Amino acid sequence: MAQDRYSRQHLFTPIGEKGQNKIKSKHVLIVGAGALGTSSAEQLVRSGIGKLTIVDRDYVEWSNLQRQQLFDEEDARSRTPKAVAAKKKLQLYNSEVTIEAHIMDAQREEMESLIPTVDVVLDATDNFDTRMLLNDCCQKYATPWIYGGCVGSHGMSFTIVPGETPCLHCLLESVPLGGATCDTAGIISPAVHMVTAHQVAEALKLLVGDYDALFHKLITFDLWNHQYSAVKVGRAKNKDCPSCGENPSYPFLSLEHQTKTAVLCGRDTVQIRPGQKVERNFEELKAAIPAGNVEENPFLISFQTNDYRMVFFKDGRVLIHGTKDVTEARRLYHKVVG
Ligand SMILES: [Zn+2]
Repeated sequence: MAQDRYSRQHLFTPIGEKGQNKIKSKHVLIVGAGALGTSSAEQLVRSGIGKLTIVDRDYVEWSNLQRQQLFDEEDARSRTPKAVAAKKKLQLYNSEVTIEAHIMDAQREEMESLIPTVDVVLDATDNFDTRMLLNDCCQKYATPWIYGGCVGSHGMSFTIVPGETPCLHCLLESVPLGGATCDTAGIISPAVHMVTAHQVAEALKLLVGDYDALFHKLITFDLWNHQYSAVKVGRAKNKDCPSCGENPSYPFLSLEHQTKTAVLCGRDTVQIRPGQKVERNFEELKAAIPAGNVEENPFLISFQTNDYRMVFFKDGRVLIHGTKDVTEARRLYHKVVG
């Protein structure tokens, strides 16, 4: 029966019916709809949160299907944006949850409008630039967030509570997180789920208000080699930290940290963001690009040349696959859009 949906969480004492009602009233933001994001989104949506906002800047590719659990072959074939494909699947699992999906790049403007409206943020990004931005934004708006990262069979997670725990900026100064650069080492699916198991458990504790149960340690593991550790990092909290210290300046929210052009992590791809917010007119664009080798869906237009593929999104962003050279990418971009 439909009213039995959450019965196993009602029976779980730390949640109970009271906790379930709290969960139902909460809004979670997941930044990224890749491996971590799809795994944690499915768990949270099934758990009965009130609202989920999920943001992602990319579309589904075949290499995602090995571990990104909300996507199927049709999503890869049609290059459906991940946020859109994720929402569609999630809504089938639980139609009671309000789900907002944004095809967007998580930059300052976007995060500063979303983060003040949510109760918890889950990190499902693949790069430290975005994590540092999340870190500053969550400190500014006193929103707890849960860091997670994985590569190969390794993973790590840490819950950051503004005003209490060290922040990611503090941690990076004192603990080797080993992931400050892009990584192309591959990944196995169980490492993803181990990270999200920790992230979602911590999120549920925050949502029901069981702060005493929060873990307060940096979890790291290697599933292939059976190594697990939980490190006390409370002493890493730095009172002079520019992100969480006594006089924060939130350096990663400043303009000089805003990237208009970025080489995407672990991929032969450059992303170009227009200086001003624009809505790309697909009809005009199609007139400007040579006929043939063009594919489109309601969210993007993809255009293949011999060596490159350019993907234009409605929000004005362009992904140029086949190069890591920013100058070359800009040249190709201007050749098409002038
Ligand atoms: Zn800090």
